[in-house]
Amino acid sequence: MTTEELDYKALEAIREKRVKLYIFKPSGRRLWIVVGRHGRYLVLPKAEYCTCNDFFFRVISGEKPSCYHLLAVKKSIQEEKYSIIEKEDTSYMRILEDLLDKRGEEA
Ligand SMILES: [Zn+2]
Repeated sequence: MTTEELDYKALEAIREKRVKLYIFKPSGRRLWIVVGRHGRYLVLPKAEYCTCNDFFFRVISGEKPSCYHLLAVKKSIQEEKYSIIEKEDTSYMRILEDLLDKRGEEA
């Protein structure tokens, strides 16, 4: 995938409102989530991290500069285009575990 293709997919995700910022109340904890074709991915933009397979197999190895999820979150922050979803703190662990469980899931 070229840089142009990565850019395109990132912009497409933003346009289709698949970039979501979960804000938990009352703590104010935040999670960035991008909804992809095969699942939802947790993105940590400051840490340059994403839970998708592309990130694990191609970004960490240096084959790709970024996955499009990470790029989409960064661009959506710059452009202030993302959906905010408010949740209760009590659902934080369940949502986080769900996101981490989905990684590498087969079906
Ligand atoms: Zn990713």
